Amino acid sequence: MELTNIGTIKDLFARHGFSFSKTLGQNFLINPTVCPNIAERGGCEAGVCALEIGTGVGVLTRELAKRCDKVVAIEIDERLKPILAETLSEFDNTEVIFADVMEVDLAAVIAEKFGGKETVVCANLPYYITSPVIMKVLESRLDIKAMTVMVQREAAERICAKCGTRECGAITYAVNYYSAPQTLFRVNRGSFMPAPNVDSAVIRLDIKNERALPEDEEKMVFRIIRAGFSQRRKQLVNPLSAELGVSKTEIAELLTNLDLKSTARAEELSLNDYIEIAKSM
Ligand code: SAM
Repeated sequence: MELTNIGTIKDLFARHGFSFSKTLGQNFLINPTVCPNIAERGGCEAGVCALEIGTGVGVLTRELAKRCDKVVAIEIDERLKPILAETLSEFDNTEVIFADVMEVDLAAVIAEKFGGKETVVCANLPYYITSPVIMKVLESRLDIKAMTVMVQREAAERICAKCGTRECGAITYAVNYYSAPQTLFRVNRGSFMPAPNVDSAVIRLDIKNERALPEDEEKMVFRIIRAGFSQRRKQLVNPLSAELGVSKTEIAELLTNLDLKSTARAEELSLNDYIEIAKSM
């Protein structure tokens, strides 16, 4: 079964009375090179298990299943149940959980289904939940090696930007705190059916397993980063003073003591600078 073939997809849809849901971000991959590439560069191989988010008709699920010991996929749209029963029927190492990924205890799924085997997360995410899903996976500190996901090209550029540059945002720091991000390859809008209005890119986040800071300091780092980027055009002293209830003079002094400019803006600091600020609060 060739799920990147438009005729095959149309036939499946007609037989199962299925139509795309725009609300659920259903743009399915029809470029035959993309899914094998995600699976291979995402670390799928014998001895490894994969957690997929958002199966669609199972085009990526099948490529993961060909290479991995086991695939568990989470899909919100129960209308896809009969389609997936057909498209995944030849793979007895796949299981689909029909649920909203934001409601699922992913750590429990990994522990229960994969029994301690090396695990990777792979997904072609709907754009509207890209950041929440990435942050959920990272903040849950899942026992995974890497997360490889298709995201909107602009999101990829922001996530993989260097901290301390104009291209970065609060998510750049968060992702870099928990992982080492890289862009693997670009994917044009014509690779999807229906074609979205934007181009995409596949990124891979290699998870850092060591906790860099105790939990309270970690919370403070993200509180400071969020506050700083909520007013990224202003000097950091302003949002930090408002968020932390400390005078601007004291914040300016703190920055100077850390050899940072007291006039610095959020995007000018490195992740380590934010860690040092949090430690001195
Ligand atoms: N992996 C397939 C592919 O590449 O063709 C489908 C990708 S499509 C962009 C995103 C998929 O995620 C859809 O099947 C959609 O129904 C599903 N989805 C959307 N929101 C979800 C959620 N909150 N939890 C789980 N799946 C979701």
